[in-house]
Order: sequence, then C-alpha cells, then structure tokens
Amino acid sequence: MKANKSCRKNYFDNSSRYLQNLRTRAFLAFSIFLAFALSGCFQKKTSAQTQFIFNTICSVNLYEDSSEELYAEIFSRLREIENVFNNYSPSSEISRVNENTAERAMEVSKDFFTVLKTALSFCELSGGAFDITVGPLVKLWNVTGENPRVPSEEDFARVMPLVGYKNVILSEDESAPTVRFAKKGVQLDLGAIAKGFAADEVEKILREKKVRRAVISLGGNIYVHGKKSSGEKWSVGIRNPFGEGNAATLFAQDNSVVTSGGYERFFEKDGELYSHILNPATGFPVRTDIVSITIICPNSMAADALSTSIFLCGLESIARFSQSPLCPKFECVAIDKDGTIYATRGIEKNLVLPKGKEIKRM
Ligand code: AMP
Ligand code: MG
Repeated sequence: MKANKSCRKNYFDNSSRYLQNLRTRAFLAFSIFLAFALSGCFQKKTSAQTQFIFNTICSVNLYEDSSEELYAEIFSRLREIENVFNNYSPSSEISRVNENTAERAMEVSKDFFTVLKTALSFCELSGGAFDITVGPLVKLWNVTGENPRVPSEEDFARVMPLVGYKNVILSEDESAPTVRFAKKGVQLDLGAIAKGFAADEVEKILREKKVRRAVISLGGNIYVHGKKSSGEKWSVGIRNPFGEGNAATLFAQDNSVVTSGGYERFFEKDGELYSHILNPATGFPVRTDIVSITIICPNSMAADALSTSIFLCGLESIARFSQSPLCPKFECVAIDKDGTIYATRGIEKNLVLPKGKEIKRM
C-alpha cells in the first residue's frame, strides 16, 4: 500500500503537532475568535458569547442588538442542529440513521432532510468527489480523533464497497421524508456541510429579529451579518496555512466566509502527512497542490459544500460549480503549496494581501 506522497508538503512544516488533539483544536478555534476580536472584526462594544458545539468553539457577537434571550435562542438552535449531525454522539439523529438504516427506510427530521438533499446534489455535481458516504473511511482513518492511523489493505477491502453516494435513497415526499441505504453498513458523514447549514439557520434568526450587525464563527466558519456601525465592511482574516497569522484579509458584509484546508486537521506517520479530506475513489486523503480554499457566498451551506468540493476537484472545477443553479453567486480565494494566492474577479477589490504579494486571477 502506498501512502499519498502529495501530503508530504513543506507547507506543513511550520504547523505544530498540537493541532491533533481536541483540546488544542479548541484552543486554536478560540485563538481565531480572539484574532477577530483584536483585528477589528469585532468592535469595541462587544458582548460575544461562546460555547463548545460541533466539536469546536462557536461564537456569536450581536453587538448593540443583543439580549440574553436572543443569545439563548441562537445557542439552543445550534445545540438542536448539533444533536442532528454530530457523528461522535451515539444519540444524535445521524448516528441513529447510520445504525438502523439498511434496507428499511427511516423517517428523518426536516433539518436532516434539507442538508442531506443538498449534500446529495453536491455529490452529483462534483462527479462523486464530494461523497457523504465517506463515513466508514473517516472512522477508519480517525484523522481528527485520538489514535489516527493508516488503514490496512484488509480495512480498505472491507470499507470501500460501502462508499458511494448512490447507496443513499431519499424519499421524494418532503412532508414525511425518509432515507434508506442500498447496502448494510453505509454510513453518512455530513461534516463537510452541516456547519454551513447551522450558520444559515442563525442568520435566519438574525433577520427575523431585525438584528442590524452580528458576526458568527462556528469553528472558523464565519457569517458576517450587516455592516460595522461605522458603515464599513467587516474584515475577515484568511489564515496563513504555513504558520502564524493571516495570509490575506478580505472585506465582506452579509456573507458567509468558509475555508477548507488540508492543513486544518491532519496527522503524520513515518514522514507522511495525512489530511482529513478524503478521496472516495482511492480511500486516501486527496492529492492536491492547493492548501486552502475560501468561499465567500451569502448561502453558508453552499459555501461549506463548495469549499470542500473545490478542494477535492481542483480550481478548474470553479467554472462548473459557478454555472450550476445549485450554487448561488460565489467568490473564491485559494492558496497553493508555494504560497501563491488566487482569487476570482469579484472578490479582488475586497481582498488585501501582505506587501509584495500579488493576486493571481482564477
Ligand atoms: P470541511 O472542513 O468542510 O472541508 O469538511 C471536512 C470533513 O468532511 C471531514 O472532516 C470529513 O468529516 C468530511 N469529508 C472528508 N472527505 C469527504 C468527501 N470526499 N466528501 C464529503 N465529506 C468529506
Ligand atoms: Mg465544507
């Protein structure tokens, strides 16, 4: 079995191994949040609230429109969504579906149906590179868990036949949605899209309650609602994948900013680096020269699915995704292994790079 050589990139060299356990990841997410606070994304009159949800730090800052009731409503909705999509909790809806759904259909909640339906469309649109049935592979590699490992040939032989989104059958009846698997042992993993859905649900509450400005960060999955009180756009840092600080800063309002990157979660074994985004065709982490993909899009669920999909399919796939009615208008910023920063035309004027760096047009 040959490990994926492309993972051994020098861009990981400065990334510390402390990324690998949960507590330090939480610390990292909190640092990102703090970086926002200090970099002016959050204004002085701050009353942000933070909780540990979706296995990460989630923060909400409602600025002058805040109230305890509103914070409680938002965090209760986030917890509700976590209880649907958390693969690590045996009592979550996704765990129950994975456990019980084989040949027989199982009724699912509206949230589950909405995300699953969109996710399946992205599976189709990406030509199967984005595949929500990577569940058994994700568990096998356990990249984000305590003892990650390179699976054996026997492991792959057992698990690979279970991977394939066409094994998921969703009922057409939206009033009583059900899901069924064509094979026993199929397992869903909606980790590439669920936080995007959650950010959209918070955004819905903000609009309903007529909140004028807010910043939401669900483990680095950002939503900037409205503008700053000064009338300026929010500044959002794109993390430097090679070390400390930001590689670029972008300015946005009423938009979601979502990043996928191989540097975010990975482990090292015998000099090889294995990231958490898996190629369903090989069972191995995806081979790519792209280190990070950031999507800017008003629909956070689409942004989340797109950042993972483009990471898997390559920058040349942007044109294909842009033409799909499934994807609202979006912009993209990408960083490759040499540190070159690419951007789509529409975001150029709102993107600031460090001195001496130039944007390469995609
Ligand atoms: P993201 O951070 O949004 O790019 O999503 C990464 C997560 O999506 C991983 O931690 C896995 O849970 C899941 N995942 C890994 N590979 C794939 C894939 N090929 N298609 C869909 N989801 C994936
Ligand atoms: Mg994603």
